[in-house]
Amino acid sequence: MLPAFFDSVLQLIIRTSTDLPPDVRAAMKTALVAEPADTRSAQALTIIAQNIDLASDDEGAICQDTGMPTFEVKTPVGANQIWMRRQIREAVAEATRRGKLRPNSVDSITGKNSGDNLGPGTPIVHVDQWERDDIEIKLILKGGGCENTNAQYALPAELAHLGRADRTLDGVKKCILHAVWNAQGKGCAPGAVGVCIGGDRTSGYAHAKEQLFRTLDDINPDPRLAELEASIMATVNDLDIGTMGFGGKVTLIGCKIGALNRLPASFFVSIAYDCWAFRRLGVVLDAATGRIDRWLYRDPSHPIIPMLDQSGFMRTGREISLRAPLTEEMVRSLRVGDVVLLSGPMFTGRDAVHSHLMKHDPPVDLNGSVLYHCGPVVLKEDDSWRVTAAGPTTSIREEPYQGEIIKRYGVRAVIGKGGMGAKTLGAMKEFGAVYLNAIGGAAQFYARAIRKVDGVSLLDFGTPEAMWHLTVEEFPAIVTMDAHGNSLHRDIEQASGERLATMSA
Ligand code: SF4
Repeated sequence: MLPAFFDSVLQLIIRTSTDLPPDVRAAMKTALVAEPADTRSAQALTIIAQNIDLASDDEGAICQDTGMPTFEVKTPVGANQIWMRRQIREAVAEATRRGKLRPNSVDSITGKNSGDNLGPGTPIVHVDQWERDDIEIKLILKGGGCENTNAQYALPAELAHLGRADRTLDGVKKCILHAVWNAQGKGCAPGAVGVCIGGDRTSGYAHAKEQLFRTLDDINPDPRLAELEASIMATVNDLDIGTMGFGGKVTLIGCKIGALNRLPASFFVSIAYDCWAFRRLGVVLDAATGRIDRWLYRDPSHPIIPMLDQSGFMRTGREISLRAPLTEEMVRSLRVGDVVLLSGPMFTGRDAVHSHLMKHDPPVDLNGSVLYHCGPVVLKEDDSWRVTAAGPTTSIREEPYQGEIIKRYGVRAVIGKGGMGAKTLGAMKEFGAVYLNAIGGAAQFYARAIRKVDGVSLLDFGTPEAMWHLTVEEFPAIVTMDAHGNSLHRDIEQASGERLATMSA
């Protein structure tokens, strides 16, 4: 068999998880230049840029959500594909052991995490033959936050703010704008979309995801689709959604559209949204040895150019330092737009923890606490734990529980991304709590604000879902929902919705 195949796949996984491809880096640099320096979007982009640099310097996961590993493999006729699939699965398990992938494969019935990213349906490996002598493997790691913002439309359809989308390219454009608007901060903007016009429900989504394997700067060979892509890119940034939905000039860094034939009765538009942490790479292997002949999307002979020439948190003078546990007075003094540097204890909690807290007492005293919506990558080293990646997860999933948890247990600050809804906002106003938006995907940046892991509860839920007890130092986040009923997310959603309506007029 091919002696170097396993190592080549492992290298591909590690590089994809830790180093963004040059075309994505270039697009993020353009975004950084486009946003005026004193804006929230610029501050968020600076953190993202530092995070990209930290991840590639230290070979750490760019985002703690290393997503669903999806491999597209092409092999010469006669190659042993069964063996290759097995090797790819073993490489995925090894990358997970090394902390380069977060254990992300969960039994959908029991909720149990397999711990090694293996299970029915994970990883996704598509293998095709081709009439060439070498082997090509492409990999995309697409996280849950952006996967949840994927959308599929059956035309004709009525769309909020945009009216009717017909079975025309103009109708397709409306669907794309609607999906981008809907993703707001949840999908960690600025993002990119892969789109499929047509197909059936299954092939449409698959083809949309395949578009994400195109480089952001390529030109569609179909002039009609090239024109549609250009027209989306020319208008979408006028939505003013900006990085993380903070408002700003750059909302989308790429739009790639493909088309499949459809049944006469169906007209689907399928949209795969990917976040700024657009992790996609590939390799071409020697078919006799499995050794890497060449990389796709990157040239290893070119040095990696850092995104920034500075490090540390960009200070604006508006920061407020707070030490947990927090009092009601402390949080009521905060207003939307304040930048908080938080120190002291912090507890992580996401889907499983929130559901647990609705039926059971918390394993720790949450009075005055800071609850971080985060599923970190954590490595066990002898008897202690080390967090290697720790960005926020999408908070809106906890909307059914959050208000009740604030009320019952006295939580004073919730950190996450994308904001929360009216129920949580009401509870924050009534009981005195704030929502702090951290920058989605900035897993390396935030991991460095974590001084130590003090303990862990509910580890049975798996490492991403457990409640980690952390001590943090100067953890920066922006108040986007305050204890006075104000919400930046609600305001941006309304304003961008109105702009959407203007675009369709
Ligand atoms: S950057 Fe945001 S959307 Fe993307 S994988 Fe990370 S948390 Fe999910």
